[in-house]
Amino acid sequence: MFNIVIFGKPGSGKGTQANFLKEKYSLYHISTGDLFRKNISNKTKLGIEAKSYLDKGDLVPDSVTIKMLENEVLSNKKVNGYIFDGFPRTQNQAESLDSFLSSINLKINATIALDVSENELITRLLDRGKTTNRSDDQDIEKIKNRFNEYNTKTSILINFYNKQGKFYSVDGKGSVNDITLRLFSLVDSLI
Ligand code: ADP
Repeated sequence: MFNIVIFGKPGSGKGTQANFLKEKYSLYHISTGDLFRKNISNKTKLGIEAKSYLDKGDLVPDSVTIKMLENEVLSNKKVNGYIFDGFPRTQNQAESLDSFLSSINLKINATIALDVSENELITRLLDRGKTTNRSDDQDIEKIKNRFNEYNTKTSILINFYNKQGKFYSVDGKGSVNDITLRLFSLVDSLI
C-alpha cells in the first residue's frame, strides 16, 4: 500500500492532480470537499450540518469530518492505497488519521504539497467560480477566509509531517501537465 496526502492551499490543484495520481498508481481518491458537496446536494443530515461552514469558507468541525473520512476508508478497503485530498486540515485531524490508519495496519507514506502563491490562487479560484456553482469560489472574502483557515490551522501540518520525514513540496505553478510530471517523478522516487 502507498498512501499519499496531497496538500496545499485552496485552489492549488489538489483535486486535479489527485485524479492523475489516482490513475497512475491505482489509488483510491478521497476528497473531503467532494464528500461534503455530495452530502449537501443529497441533503443528508451530514450535508445539512456541513453546509453553513462550506458557505462561509470555514472548516467543518473535526468531529464531523474525521468520522466521515474514517467511514469512507472503511467502506473502501480493497485498494492499493489512498490519496487523501483536503484531509487532514488540522493538527487534530492529522493525529487522528495516524492513529486510525495504524489501527488498521496502515500509515501515510508521503505528504506532498503543491506550492502556489496566494495571488495566483485568487485568480484561479475566481476563474473556477465562473464555471462551477461553488459559492465559496465566487466571493473574495470567502476565499480570503479559506486562506486564513489554512494559515492558522493547516500550515502547521508542514512541521508535523516534516518531523516524521514525510513532507515533500512540489512547485505548483505552470501547466497542469508539467505539475503532473513533477509529481510522478517524485512519487516514482519514493515507491
Ligand atoms: P479547497 O481546497 O479549494 O478549499 P475543498 O473542496 O478541499 O476545496 O474544500 C471545500 C470546503 O470543504 C472547505 O472550505 C471546508 O469548508 C470543507 N472541508 C474540506 N475538507 C475539510 C477538512 N479536512 N476539515 C474541515 N473542513 C473541510
